[in-house]
Amino acid sequence: MLELKNITKSFINGSEQVHALQGVSLTVSKNEFVAFMGSSGSGKSTLMNIMGCLDTPNSGQYLLDNQDVAKLDDDTLSAIRNKHIGFIFQTFHLLPKLDAIGNVRLPLRYTDVSDEEATERAIALLQKVGLGHRMQHKPFEMSGGQRQRVAIARALINRPTVILADEPTGNLDSKTSVEIMALLKDLHQQGQTIVMVTHEDDIAEHAERVVMMRDGQILDENYALAK
Ligand code: ADP
Ligand code: MG
Repeated sequence: MLELKNITKSFINGSEQVHALQGVSLTVSKNEFVAFMGSSGSGKSTLMNIMGCLDTPNSGQYLLDNQDVAKLDDDTLSAIRNKHIGFIFQTFHLLPKLDAIGNVRLPLRYTDVSDEEATERAIALLQKVGLGHRMQHKPFEMSGGQRQRVAIARALINRPTVILADEPTGNLDSKTSVEIMALLKDLHQQGQTIVMVTHEDDIAEHAERVVMMRDGQILDENYALAK
């Protein structure tokens, strides 16, 4: 469903050229729950941005749902992104002025989904992520774990083909991290495809498969965590 073929990506950092991705090939199938690991700077976020169509590779091919992303015009690309991808970030990225419902329904604003249906879907998702009692709270009135639950509900509102989560527990204490992982696992068991980045073994072990990266390359696409 997600197919990366020999993807490369470089950045100019001052006078230096950084080869962030150096020939990454990988397939993520429907209903998989994959965790990317690897030390800081190994290219995990760059790869997530490419998979999420937020950035484009210098060379190689990326097929999302069998479509070559590079061949799409901007409008088609944003439509594809809206339809297929839900993002979760380490720092939640919620809008402070909106309450939980407002944040969750935001991705539906420029779609043909009516306001009424958007609100209904947001309420149902907030209940699903265990925030039925916090729907009219704003981010500053919520704990980190609750904020991440709002972000997960927001990521689900388009019924995306895949959820991309870059260090989703990076700003959470270990108990809250376990709760968020339980929620992601639950979504996975209901058929949601999830691609996650983490640098913690304890978090990665919740995934079905661990892909280990090093220096912009895949070291092992089926990495066995030490128990
Ligand atoms: P990770 O998420 O595994 O820590 P990244 O994908 O963020 O790694 O970064 C990989 C390499 O690319 C690093 O050396 C980083 O400094 C560089 N890099 C990433 N994004 C940019 C950017 N926008 N501009 C310049 N260099 C970047
Ligand atoms: Mg990163």
